[in-house]
Amino acid sequence: MKKIVVATNNIGKLKEIREILKGYQLLSLKDVNCKVEIEEDKDTFEGNSLKKAQEISQLLQMPCIADDSGLCIETYNGWPGVHTARFLGENATAKERNTYILEKMKGLSRDQRKASVKCCITYYENGNYIVGKGEIQGRIVETPRGNNGFGFDEIFELEDGRTYAELSTEEKNKISHRRLALQDLLTKLENHI
Ligand code: IMP
Repeated sequence: MKKIVVATNNIGKLKEIREILKGYQLLSLKDVNCKVEIEEDKDTFEGNSLKKAQEISQLLQMPCIADDSGLCIETYNGWPGVHTARFLGENATAKERNTYILEKMKGLSRDQRKASVKCCITYYENGNYIVGKGEIQGRIVETPRGNNGFGFDEIFELEDGRTYAELSTEEKNKISHRRLALQDLLTKLENHI
């Protein structure tokens, strides 16, 4: 079975990826004893996911999958986008970032609260790469809702009115931006490998 390293140590992500890319042996960075930190300094999700996949693949001399995702708010031309994890600095918590966004958007109408969550997943092998993309439309709530989630889950509302944090993990993993990107990647991989 083909071995692929996934540029993460996040068990949840790895599990989600394993459920979709079933025909491959997926290893975490820890599994291959890789402690490298790649700086996410590109200005697109695609750029960051490609940079991570390429650098780790070249370092380990094996195929690599890396992802990058974030929240894009229409009123602010896609901000925070690639800066979703760090727009308040390295040490801020997700709760602090969510509070900052809600304060900034106070008083904005439902229409002005439109947002999307995007994910890019890149597969890199021997100088060639394939990118899978996923995107979900929704809006930023006025008050956080839901307890089951992380990051921006409690402030991102789907078209059906529930926030990501109001879905069970199974429900979210079936429809998430990452799931869509993975499915897109899988379709493209099956046509190339
Ligand atoms: P990464 O691309 O997984 O490193 O995530 C970038 C930023 O987006 C981090 O702040 C994550 O917490 C956040 N993020 C990524 N995926 C999700 C998600 O599914 N729900 C909520 N936040 C997420």
